[in-house]
Amino acid sequence: MHANSGNVFMVVAPSGAGKSSLVRALLQQDTSILLSVSCTTRAPRPGEEDGREYRFVAVDDFKRMRDDQALLEWAEVHGNFYGTPRDRIDAATREGRDVLLEIDWQGARQVKQRFPGAIGIFILPPSIEELEARLKARGQDEPQVIARRLMAAGGEIAHAPECEYVIINQEFSVALSELTQIVSAARLRFSSQAARHAPLFAQLGIPAAH
Ligand code: 5GP
Repeated sequence: MHANSGNVFMVVAPSGAGKSSLVRALLQQDTSILLSVSCTTRAPRPGEEDGREYRFVAVDDFKRMRDDQALLEWAEVHGNFYGTPRDRIDAATREGRDVLLEIDWQGARQVKQRFPGAIGIFILPPSIEELEARLKARGQDEPQVIARRLMAAGGEIAHAPECEYVIINQEFSVALSELTQIVSAARLRFSSQAARHAPLFAQLGIPAAH
């Protein structure tokens, strides 16, 4: 990680674990975190707006971006392509801004190669039954899509050990508080503090981390 780097948070979870609601609440509390808006080839769900939840793009456009190296990472998830545009993330972290990515485990692995200090946060449902109930309650997807996502959930959960942190989303307010604490702790890491308080560190003669 370069010296001026902001933190890169990656929130990973199976569909239905409550990831998006948690992230939305975190960003309302803390407007200094930049949310990465991914590109996807999947169709918008009711209520989703192009440029807000995702940039909805055609498969050809997605492949062009991927081939032009415009994506920091990309993956095929549930039969659709998803990817993180590179430009905003690079600019934000260079300026010392924290960024947050909602991505799957395949994407998280790729981001770690570019940003080894990226912090993975895995959101778990309190039980498999609860996960199924939440997926059904959402009511936005066809039954066969829900069934596919439930099966995929097991695959995603198997990669929880690759994340630094785990939050069990049983009680929303508790989970949100835990997420906030992770963000706070990350900002207190030596590398973050040294970048943010460079003059103080210099004045105190603190050597750079190796
Ligand atoms: P959904 O279609 O339910 O919004 O997202 C499906 C899955 O794709 C979720 O696990 C979500 O985290 C993942 N995803 C969303 N955006 C990206 C992205 O830019 N890159 C990767 N690798 N996964 C993503």
